[in-house]
Amino acid sequence: MKSLLAIPLAERGKEAALAALKAIWDIQDSPTHIDLVELRLDLIDDDTVLAPALAFCQQRQLGVIITYRATPGESTAQLKKRHAIIGRAIVAGVEFVDVDMTEGATAIGAVRRLIAEQGGRTRLIISHHDFLQTPSFKKLCTLFSSCQELGADVVKIATMARAPQDNLNMLNLLDFAQKKQKPLSAFCMGDGGRMSRIMAPALGAMISYVALNDAARSAPGQLTIAEVHLLANILQPETSKRETDKTASSSNPLPLENDGNNGRSNAAVYAVFGNPIRHSLSPLLHNTAFRRLGINGVYVPFCVQDIAVAVSAIRELGMKGVSVTLPFKSAVIPFLDRMDESALAIGAVNTIVNNNGELIGYNTDWSGAMAALTSLVNIAEKRIAILGAGGTARAICFGVKKYGAIPLIINRSAPRGEALAHEWGISFYTSKEWRQVEADILINTTPMGMNPLAAELPLPTEALSRFSVVMDIIYNPLETMLLREAKKAGAQTISGTEMFVQQGAQQIQLWTGKTVPLALLRSTVLAALTATEITAGTVNPKKERR
Ligand code: NAP
Repeated sequence: MKSLLAIPLAERGKEAALAALKAIWDIQDSPTHIDLVELRLDLIDDDTVLAPALAFCQQRQLGVIITYRATPGESTAQLKKRHAIIGRAIVAGVEFVDVDMTEGATAIGAVRRLIAEQGGRTRLIISHHDFLQTPSFKKLCTLFSSCQELGADVVKIATMARAPQDNLNMLNLLDFAQKKQKPLSAFCMGDGGRMSRIMAPALGAMISYVALNDAARSAPGQLTIAEVHLLANILQPETSKRETDKTASSSNPLPLENDGNNGRSNAAVYAVFGNPIRHSLSPLLHNTAFRRLGINGVYVPFCVQDIAVAVSAIRELGMKGVSVTLPFKSAVIPFLDRMDESALAIGAVNTIVNNNGELIGYNTDWSGAMAALTSLVNIAEKRIAILGAGGTARAICFGVKKYGAIPLIINRSAPRGEALAHEWGISFYTSKEWRQVEADILINTTPMGMNPLAAELPLPTEALSRFSVVMDIIYNPLETMLLREAKKAGAQTISGTEMFVQQGAQQIQLWTGKTVPLALLRSTVLAALTATEITAGTVNPKKERR
């Protein structure tokens, strides 16, 4: 069973609410099918909306959740009035009524009786909200059990994300609910909770709450219909999507029976670990590849504070593979079971493969860079100047040697550059000593040329005529100042997008054994960079996408 999509309707006043309802219906022909509208009667604050809203939804087979929260200090008379309105909705045959667990056993019992009197068609959602924090996994399980004991047909738990671990606790709760065979809708609120909203449908959440569009988000971190559509396409290979489309047009719009699978789509989960990670292009790259290859998988960005916790999440969530980026490429190593030979020699991991519980570290930065370089030029026995002495310079140094070429290091600061050169037994020059450098090819691995250093050149213009090929690993902007000036000086150039695409394609090969067309990845990344006008320099994302 797929996760049901619900749009909360919280506009104040009857007219505004009915107009929003019509707007929701107007997009029902769009590729993403909306299953439910949640009428927030407490927020709409006008009970007369009920009859026309229910008539509208019933005519169109749009399911309804009625949510009518108590106001603080509610009197007995107010409670009775509220329950009378909920009762009218139950008589009208709404699909769900949502009652907060804080209402207590007596009030919840009264709603259950109303439902039973009408033959039990309506399902009772018992919900818990915490707008301040996410409790421990143990506490979440206790809350879930309390809702279950109160007689929930469906449990809903929504808490505020304060740390990445909160997402994992919430997603693990979906697994707990599956074992108890009780439908659950669970997610973390706030920007830090987006990961749980993305992954919850794939891990069996019964209902996902989404916004009509950006402007209509009722909570930070809420996904829009357009985003959900993109994810649905990513999560479902073409064949199963066609099957779902057929189900959607069948006579029963809401297949609510628990099918024993609790909605779990069996999608494989992949992630990128980094910090910051918000602007990463890797999810776009990998999700596009999964879709093209028909892989039932989703790849999500994961902003990591503690790499040990993040690695334990790979095991707990059964993630199939992970990309690792700054600043964790070396820090992740102690938490892995095994390293491939290249990653061991470089001392950095950018790819983790989960091989039935054994976590193996690989490095595709070196091989991606070499694939990009050798697609243009045969480098055997060529002298290659590497600008920078950081992690990527190490990876490229390893690759250059492996391909039978001769690397040398140029770095602004001597101690780090000298240390790397000494380790690999190669020459070192400070940036000021560029006149002494004799090389055929130049590769920039420093952030010079990337926003906010977009106008900076790592070497003076007159140095560039020395090289026949110049490669940059920066791809934002698409054409860096270095590549522009190198072209003018007569060199052939290779942009950082090529390395990015190549290292990503190699990660997919390691995770799935499949080969993705590089042209597809190239055009996807180029389109994304161009669309956001980053290439024109009109947007300053401050941090490079990775
Ligand atoms: P790193 O370990 O921090 O090393 C950065 C190097 O750049 C250091 O040698 C540093 O010099 C030098 N540097 C930093 N700021 C500088 C400045 N203002 N002027 C001159 N030199 C400067 O970083 P890394 O892991 O090597 O990554 C470098 C970049 O490559 C990152 O932006 C990353 O996103 C990108 N990357 C791209 C791809 C791709 O697929 N295209 C793949 C991997 C990485 P000092 O030693 O003097 O500090």
